Amino acid sequence: MTDSSSSQHNPQEHQTNQVSQNNSAIPLTSLLQQYFGFSHFRPGQEQTITQLLNRQSSLAIFPTGSGKSLCYQLTALQLPHLTLVVSPLLALIKDQLAFLEKKGIKAASIDSTLKGREAQEVMTSVRDGSIKVLMVSVERFKNERFRQFIESVPVSMLVVDEAHCISEWGHNFRPDYLKLPSYCKALNIPLVLLLTATATKKVKLDMANKFAIQPEHIVQTGFYRANLDLSVVSVSSAQKNNKLEQLVKSQQGAGIVYVTLQHSAEVVAQYLQQQGVNACAYHAGFDSDTRAQIQQDFMSGNIQVIVATIAFGMGIDKSDIRFVIHYDLPKSIENYSQEIGRAGRDGHLSHCITLANLDGLNTVENFVYGDTPELSSIETVINSIKAETSSSSDTGKWELQLLPLSNSSNIKQLPLKTLLVQLELCGVIEPLYAYFADFKIKLLQPQQAILDLFNQQRQAFLIKIFQAIDFKKVWGSLNFDNLLQDKSIERNRVISALEYLQEQQLIILETKGMTEVFNVDLHALTKPSLTQQLSDYFKDKEEKEIKRIAALIRFFELDTCLSINLSRYFDDNIFDNNQVNSKGCGHCSVCRGQIAKLYYSQDKKPWPSDDTLIASIKEFTLCLAGKTDKPLELSSYCRFIAGISEPLFARTQVKKLSGFALCEQQRYSDICTKIRPILRLSHK
Ligand SMILES: [Zn+2]
Repeated sequence: MTDSSSSQHNPQEHQTNQVSQNNSAIPLTSLLQQYFGFSHFRPGQEQTITQLLNRQSSLAIFPTGSGKSLCYQLTALQLPHLTLVVSPLLALIKDQLAFLEKKGIKAASIDSTLKGREAQEVMTSVRDGSIKVLMVSVERFKNERFRQFIESVPVSMLVVDEAHCISEWGHNFRPDYLKLPSYCKALNIPLVLLLTATATKKVKLDMANKFAIQPEHIVQTGFYRANLDLSVVSVSSAQKNNKLEQLVKSQQGAGIVYVTLQHSAEVVAQYLQQQGVNACAYHAGFDSDTRAQIQQDFMSGNIQVIVATIAFGMGIDKSDIRFVIHYDLPKSIENYSQEIGRAGRDGHLSHCITLANLDGLNTVENFVYGDTPELSSIETVINSIKAETSSSSDTGKWELQLLPLSNSSNIKQLPLKTLLVQLELCGVIEPLYAYFADFKIKLLQPQQAILDLFNQQRQAFLIKIFQAIDFKKVWGSLNFDNLLQDKSIERNRVISALEYLQEQQLIILETKGMTEVFNVDLHALTKPSLTQQLSDYFKDKEEKEIKRIAALIRFFELDTCLSINLSRYFDDNIFDNNQVNSKGCGHCSVCRGQIAKLYYSQDKKPWPSDDTLIASIKEFTLCLAGKTDKPLELSSYCRFIAGISEPLFARTQVKKLSGFALCEQQRYSDICTKIRPILRLSHK
């Protein structure tokens, strides 16, 4: 069971047993050979494809690099209409498109990198059926122009890549993913395929439940990989670079070193270079050309070692990565397993080494605390909905632009999105549609020349549109409010007309200022317990995240086989079924008798004196004087001292003050305890 493209799968991976006969005329293996050039399916693929062709929505859980994508790619060829693939990362999309192109399968994406005309070409090809696979990000669904388009073409199957993002129990929960089931219903898509590499039992059932996938249609291949040698090495921060250098020099072949911060990626890469290692930094702070170049150099072997933040890896399909080293603590067991999963996809022995101590623990935890909104911030959001729904002429409608609300409520954008999804799930708000507040138009021909191309009736319509455009020198902005006062004009028709003009290269159209419109249930909105209920939700979430970090530390300190524990965590019971030695894998540091004990290796910076703290707080208060509508919260002071960012800080010079991050090494809860009495004192 090998395929020519990448890897031999691991011989101990258990086989999915029963596969019912598919009902298409051509055997699946012939299609596999014909389109992809592979002679055999890898575990789980055939069962998944067969289910899909029998119109059974499915969930496929395969380890990274074991051919998940092929399940939808081959199926899409056999389905009558479009296959719509939702993927969280542009890099993943580009990678899969390149693969499909190589195989001669027409696929495309609609994303922010496309120019107006290119997007138009894609839409035309989807409409005439020449494109069978369309890939988009989940955010694309908010785009009014995209929704209008996708509602007008028949879709055979929805594929959700990295589907664990849909589960709130998952490690990578993306609030927008929660809306996918309702999009699926609204678009009448009859078939769904969810794909993921990492899912605990809870996450698995949660995902299946949200799309009404039957338990028997969950296809899971083994998680355990016998060719990965796992080690946890307890090391002090002072010794880390030395240890890293030693390890890297003792390894053959390509490797990835993972760090938490962009800054560390550069510092560590530079250190390795100075020691004569062919290493290079990679993080999201580099521009896309630089990142692409580094990726390419790594793929081709020109760079041996990449020192990267977690931005690196998704969509990298290099089968011979010989080692993955965690220089800093990963974010969770799920992240850890995803990151080590990039090693040894060719089935050959590869080393996964974690250099661990507890020095960075507070930093990791403080990231979590920074994301929990304050009760008063949640109240601000609720009040702003109340104010707008009662004052607007359109009662019960609420219009949202994310950034201004994030600023006024002092809630970061990601938690704010989570809050909105929670309001949706409580039945307080219901999304109606989204539109762009700003339509900018540039004429490529004189106005009259454009009008002359159309018949009288259309001309009359276009004249009304043109009259509503306020032209400056080159660009004009469309005033929808004025235009739509004429009740005979519908917004959709205006957009279609502008799209058409753009398609004909008569104008250039640019849209921005995404505005989401919600229906508001005023009764649910005024429920007295609402704010508290939402706040409890976030506290609960915070607690879960902190526990996730604790679970990770416990995992690294285990005194029983790491491979067994990791497999069980992801609901693979291969060791319990006596398929392999149930006593231990024989290729992890614990099986070799080295149990790691993690410790704080650096003396924490002592607390600054109360006088210093009082001075910092005064400086902070002064800096924000007159810049907020309401009094500062205890949490804002604590975040400032802890060096955790919040929207309020971004608009001011707060981060440049000497007190910012003054106590970043301390635990957040200790900082709160310390600041509370000082605050009372300094206010006297
Ligand atoms: Zn072991």
